Amino acid sequence: MRFSTKAIHVGQDPEPETGSVTVPVFLASTYRQSEPGKEGKYVYSRTANPTRTALEECLASLEEGKYGLAFSSGMAATTTVLMLLRKGDHVIAGDDIYGGTYRLFEKVLRNYGLQFTYVDPQDPSNVEKAVRKNTRLVWIETPTNPLMRIIDIKRISKISRKAHALLVVDNTFMSPYLQNPLSHGADIVVHSTTKYLGGHSDLIGGAAITNDTKIHEPLSFLQNAVGAVPGPLDCYLVLRGVKTLAVRMERHCQNAKAIGEYLLKQSKVERVLFPGLPDHPQRDIVRRQMRGSGGMLSFQLSGGFNSCKKFLKQLRVFTVAESLGGVESLIEHPASMTHASIPRERRVELGVSDNLVRASVGIEDVEDLVSDLERGFRQL
Ligand SMILES: *Cc1c(COP(=O)(O)O)cnc(C)c1O
Repeated sequence: MRFSTKAIHVGQDPEPETGSVTVPVFLASTYRQSEPGKEGKYVYSRTANPTRTALEECLASLEEGKYGLAFSSGMAATTTVLMLLRKGDHVIAGDDIYGGTYRLFEKVLRNYGLQFTYVDPQDPSNVEKAVRKNTRLVWIETPTNPLMRIIDIKRISKISRKAHALLVVDNTFMSPYLQNPLSHGADIVVHSTTKYLGGHSDLIGGAAITNDTKIHEPLSFLQNAVGAVPGPLDCYLVLRGVKTLAVRMERHCQNAKAIGEYLLKQSKVERVLFPGLPDHPQRDIVRRQMRGSGGMLSFQLSGGFNSCKKFLKQLRVFTVAESLGGVESLIEHPASMTHASIPRERRVELGVSDNLVRASVGIEDVEDLVSDLERGFRQL
């Protein structure tokens, strides 16, 4: 089966009792046992729930994985994956990862005795140089947020394999429609299903997918033991979103490309950061590991924070908000919003400058998006 067929059918056979073509929302917390201790497939909904199982099977197949686990948020998925480690273990992470992931690593997991080193994985030798005897996990995102840098998954996977460390790729920005990290050597793929997979900005959820039984078994144990599981209604909403993922992603890609090209022609735009531009410095890796350039792009406006504020204030179709991946276009100013918790000096050093704007290009009519941006540029 191919992608769209899997998205609509895997784990989602018509329900046998009634023939319902949509997966029922099983709200039950507990399940009858025919005799004490004689358990059926389902016992208690933290451990397993039929609506969640449908989602987990579907997400696994979309990521070319064998095993999927759903969580109550992207951060819950990340936390549970990190619990595979023990006190004293070392993690190498990209220096341009999701702010919440960085916060979890630094403000929470460090207190539990895990060690973290941040490097720029655009040059894989930086990862190699950071390997220690106790390195057990490498964490990357590609493209990165908000700088849209591309990391070579295959090359990083060779380094992590040699170090006997797990490679985890947060694939939220691409969605499984555009990139399958497991096929390029990753051990675990993590998603915030809040974003493209859900796709409608109406839920919070996460997932972790792997091909390796030796990873799945302890991770599945942790899913139940830690208990950061999603409710059945949220699972249903993600499944409903996933059915249209392919058509949505096609339109996200098309619209973002058109906007990227439009921005390149604006005199007030200093730089456009978007993997879909023909002169992208990492276009060879883009071609190798991505099937499209996605719906996320960033750009720098001349005139600093003030001109960003003036620009954003004019917009009527783009909504100024954090988050991404929904059908509606969102736009934000990383330095004062998503990345505000990073000290300014460090932020600027990373390249998240005060004049950077990040857009999650939605699936509206692109003409309306362009005229909205034009309204903004007229004010500058
Ligand atoms: C949003 C996001 C997360 C966190 O997911 P939540 O569902 O908000 O917990 C992790 N990684 C990336 C890349 C994200 O965009």
